[in-house]
Amino acid sequence: MSISPRVLLSIDYEPWFALFRHYDSLTDPTQRRDLDGGFALRALDPILNLLGDAKASFYLVGEIADWYPEVPQKIVAAGHELGLHCHIHRPLKNTSELAQDIRASSHWLKQYHVHGYRAPMVGISEAAYQLLEDNGFTYSSSIYAPASILLKKGNIWEIPVSTTRSRRNGSYAAPRDFSFKLLLNGEFPYGSSFSIGILGGQVLKFIERDLKRGLSPSIILHPYELVTPPLSARLARDLILNPHLMPFRRNKAGFLKTLLERFPVSPLGVYLDEVLAAQGQTNA
Ligand SMILES: [Zn+2]
Repeated sequence: MSISPRVLLSIDYEPWFALFRHYDSLTDPTQRRDLDGGFALRALDPILNLLGDAKASFYLVGEIADWYPEVPQKIVAAGHELGLHCHIHRPLKNTSELAQDIRASSHWLKQYHVHGYRAPMVGISEAAYQLLEDNGFTYSSSIYAPASILLKKGNIWEIPVSTTRSRRNGSYAAPRDFSFKLLLNGEFPYGSSFSIGILGGQVLKFIERDLKRGLSPSIILHPYELVTPPLSARLARDLILNPHLMPFRRNKAGFLKTLLERFPVSPLGVYLDEVLAAQGQTNA
């Protein structure tokens, strides 16, 4: 039995300032919450409304659950999948730091039986998979690779964020850092919201093409791309200092609306369960 192709829709639910590396060193939780200014809470209802009946995976940054316990509550109550996107958003490949993050988020991870993980900046280390397994996770979505590639690391499944297929049909293994070399080989990471920010509707064509091939593309959006945060003097300065991040500033609510009108979507966890159930039936 094969499963129906769909868009694996995920929202990496992180504070607006997670884009800017100079906030990584800000450690005081109150200062971090003040910097968010209530945006992570305010953005949620409009995003849930935008999704309507469609279900997505929300990979939540744990500090948001500390600031606003109603955020994970509302996500789950609306029928979406809740996953982990680390506790404090920054490049996170060091496993002892990741272990610390999982501990810091353990209360809501247990409360909501979280079993999916998306690494910040879609960057994961080899050793992280064992750590995820030890902490009750069943899958990760923390590398880039073509749609419907499903990898297994120990007992952890890896569901990549989608790229176009390269001219060379290589073999794929996790971890897998996205490099300029892959791009030169024609592998374009269209599942990244950065790409959606640059190409807009063209990404819908990549998605449609893969769906027609029977594949299930996996894409990422962020809360600040669906509800635009007010352009404070601070944010304006951050953007001027980081002009390469402008594609993240582009509002993608219209993109999401069109996507939902045209294509079926599902959370990653639901997709994985269906794939495994289908494999179980064919193996039996
Ligand atoms: Zn992120």
